[in-house]
Amino acid sequence: MDRTFRVKVRMRRFRRQHPRIAFAIRSFMIFSATFGGAYGFVSGSRSENSGYDPNTFAIGASFLFALACLGLATLSMRLRFVNKRMRALAAHNEALIDRNWELKEAEERARSLFESQGDLIVLRDTQGRITFANDAYCALAGQDRGALVGTRFDFDVLEQGDSARESNGTRIHDQRIMTPLGARWIAWREGYVRLDAGQAAELQSVGRDVTDRTETERALSEARDQADAANRAKSRFLAMASHEIRTPLNGIIGMGGLLLDTHLTPEQTTYARAVKTSGEALMALIEELLDYSKIEAGKLDLEQRPFALSTLIEEITELLAPRAQAKQLEIAAYVDERLPLEVVGDAARLRQVLLNLAGNAIKFTANGGVALIVEPGIWPNEISFLVRDTGIGIAPEAQQRIFREFEQADERVARTYGGTGLGLAISERIVRRMGGRITLTSELDKGSTFEVAVPLAPSQASAGQTAFPSPDLTGKSILLVADGIEASLIARRLEHWGGQTCLVSDASVAEALLPERSWHAVLVDRAVGATVADHLAEAARAHALQRLVLLTPGSRHEEFSPDFTGFLVKPLRAASLAARLALTPEVASPELAPEPPAETAAPAKGLSILVAEDNEINALLMRSLLTKLGHRVVIAVHGEAALESWLAASSAGTPYDLVLMDIQMPQLDGIEATRRIRAHESATDGHTTPILALTANTLVEDRYACFEAGMNGFLIKPLDREKLEEALAGLAKARHLAV
Ligand code: ADP
Repeated sequence: MDRTFRVKVRMRRFRRQHPRIAFAIRSFMIFSATFGGAYGFVSGSRSENSGYDPNTFAIGASFLFALACLGLATLSMRLRFVNKRMRALAAHNEALIDRNWELKEAEERARSLFESQGDLIVLRDTQGRITFANDAYCALAGQDRGALVGTRFDFDVLEQGDSARESNGTRIHDQRIMTPLGARWIAWREGYVRLDAGQAAELQSVGRDVTDRTETERALSEARDQADAANRAKSRFLAMASHEIRTPLNGIIGMGGLLLDTHLTPEQTTYARAVKTSGEALMALIEELLDYSKIEAGKLDLEQRPFALSTLIEEITELLAPRAQAKQLEIAAYVDERLPLEVVGDAARLRQVLLNLAGNAIKFTANGGVALIVEPGIWPNEISFLVRDTGIGIAPEAQQRIFREFEQADERVARTYGGTGLGLAISERIVRRMGGRITLTSELDKGSTFEVAVPLAPSQASAGQTAFPSPDLTGKSILLVADGIEASLIARRLEHWGGQTCLVSDASVAEALLPERSWHAVLVDRAVGATVADHLAEAARAHALQRLVLLTPGSRHEEFSPDFTGFLVKPLRAASLAARLALTPEVASPELAPEPPAETAAPAKGLSILVAEDNEINALLMRSLLTKLGHRVVIAVHGEAALESWLAASSAGTPYDLVLMDIQMPQLDGIEATRRIRAHESATDGHTTPILALTANTLVEDRYACFEAGMNGFLIKPLDREKLEEALAGLAKARHLAV
C-alpha cells in the first residue's frame, strides 16, 4: 500500500516537474494503443482463414462500442466529481487568501504600532547588538533605524537610579541619560524575549521618558525640604521669641510676688495683684500659642518613658486643689487599682491635657466639684481618664465645635470666664497624636464629662508591683461622714478594699448610727462643720477603733479635738488613706500624727548656691527668693564667671551645694559651662555638684541638651517660690539620703 502510494507520489512529482515529457509519453501511448488496435483488427479481418463473420463482427463492434460508452460515462462522472472538488478547493483557497491578507494587515498594524510607540523599544542580541529599535528610540538617538541596527549603540548614562527585579525576572530601573535633545530621565523595563524558536533570546528594553515626572518629584521634595527648614526656623524663632518674652515676664511676675510680700496699702496690694495676675495670664497665653504652633508644625515629639499613673493624677489634683478650694469646690481623684502601677508614655503631655480639662472643669463650675477618675479602657492596654464636673455644661450644638481652635461654647460665657479657645484644640491634637481620642458628654446646667482614652502599655519594670499595700478591710465597718464628689470616691475605694462603708452626709444621722455597731473607723469631713466634727469624734470614742478626720486643704494647722486619732489632707491620696487604715489602733496616737514622710517637703535651709543668670532682674529675683528661704547666694552674670566662681569655691574646700544655671548667657552658655564643670569634676575627686538648668525654653531637644551636658534637672522660668522650694527640698532629701 505504502509502496504504491510512494510510486504514485513520485510519478505525480515527475509529471509536475517534466510536463512536456509526460505529455509526449502519454500521446505516444494513446497513439500506439489506437494504431495497434486498428491495425490488428484490419489485418486480422483480411486474412483468408480469419473466418470473418459479419454477425460476429457486428457483435464485437457493438460490444466495443458499449465498452467505449461505459468508459466515457465513467470518465464523465469522474470529471463531474473532480470539478466539484475543484470548486470546493477554489472556495477554500479564496478563504485562505482572505485570511492571509487579514493576517498581513494585522502584522502591518502591529509593526507600525510597535514602531510608532511613544515608549522607547530596543531589542539586542546576546552580543549587545541592536536587532530592532522603534521610531521613538531612533528619534531620541537622532539616527535612522538602518544606522542603529547591528551596532552596539547605547546612550551615555549620567545618573543611575535604584533598580528592582520583578518576580518574572524583569529588571526595572531609572536612568538619566544624555541624548541629542538633552538630559532625560528614562524608566526602563528590561527582560529577555524569544522571538523565533531555536534562536537565542534577545534583551528587550522598553523605556518611558519620565523626565517631567521626576523633575516635578524632585522639585516637590526640594520644596518640602525648604518648607521643613522654614518650619524648623519658625519653631526656633518661636522658641527664641517666647524665651525673650518670658524673661521680662519672669521679672514682672516674680517682682510682683515679692512686692506683694512687702507692706502695702490695700490699694497697692490690688494693683500689685493685678500686675501678677496679668503677667501669669500672658504667660499662659504664650505657652498655649507656642504649643499650638509646635503642634501645627508637626513638632510634637512624644516621649516613651515609664511613669506612675497615681502619682501623675495626684499631682494634678493637688496642683489644682487651691484653685478649686478658692471657689469652694471639691476636687478628688480615683485611680482604679486594676491598672498597672507604671505605664509607658509621655507623662508631661498627658499632664498638660488633664490639667487643661480639669482646669476648664474648675473654671466652668460654680457649685459642686470636679473628679478625675482613671479606669481601664475598652481596649486592651487602653486607659480611660474621666474629668467630670458639676458645672454649666455645654449645649449639644457646641459640643463638636469647641474642639476647634479659637472656638468657645458661648461668647457671652467666654467673656465672663476668659480664655483663648485653644486649650481643647491643643489637647485634642495631643491625644490624637498619642493614638487616643477625647469624647464629651454634657448637659446644660448639669455638668460635663470629658473622657480621654489613650493606649498606654504597662511598664515591664513595674509588672506585678503595687503602689502601696492595700489594707484588708474585709468584714470591717467604716462610717464616712462626708458629702460630695470626693466622699463617693472614698466610699468606692473602701469598698474595693473589702470594707462595709456607710456614707452619711448628715452628722445627726451619723451620730444615731454610731451605737449601731462597732466601727473599725469613723472618717469625718471637716466640711460638715468644725464643732459638729469634734462632737462626732467624741461620740465615736466608744464605738470606733479609729477616728480620723478629713481636713480641707490648707487647714492642716487648724485646731481640732484630741478625740481624733489622726488626719488626712484633701484631696486624699489613696496611699495615705491605706496607710492610715492599716494602722492598728494601739499604734495610732491620739495626738496629731504627722503626715507620711512622702507628703512632707521640709524646706531646705542654709545651702550655698551659685546662680548663673545674665538678666539683672531675674538675678535679683533669684537672690531675693533664695535669701528669703535662708540660703546663701552668689550671682554670676555669665557662664565664664560661673565657672570661675565654682572653681574658686571648690579649690577653697567650700564647694557650692547647688548651681542654678541659666542656659542662654553671653560668653559661655549654661550648657558649655556645665560640661566644663563636669569635666573638671571627673578629672579631680569625682564629687559632683548638683546643677539645675534655669530655662524659659520648653523644647524637648533643649531638655535633652541639658541632660546630655550633665545637668541634674531643670526649672522652668518663670520660677515661683513653691517650685523653687520644692526643688530645694528634693535636693536636701537626696543629700540626706546620700549621707
Ligand atoms: P478656653 O477655656 O481657653 O476658652 P478651651 O479650648 O479649653 O479654651 O475650651 C473651649 C470652650 O469649651 C470654652 O470656652 C468653654 O466654652 C467650653 N468648655 C470647655 N470645658 C468646659 C467645661 N468643663 N464646662 C463647660 N464648658 C466647657
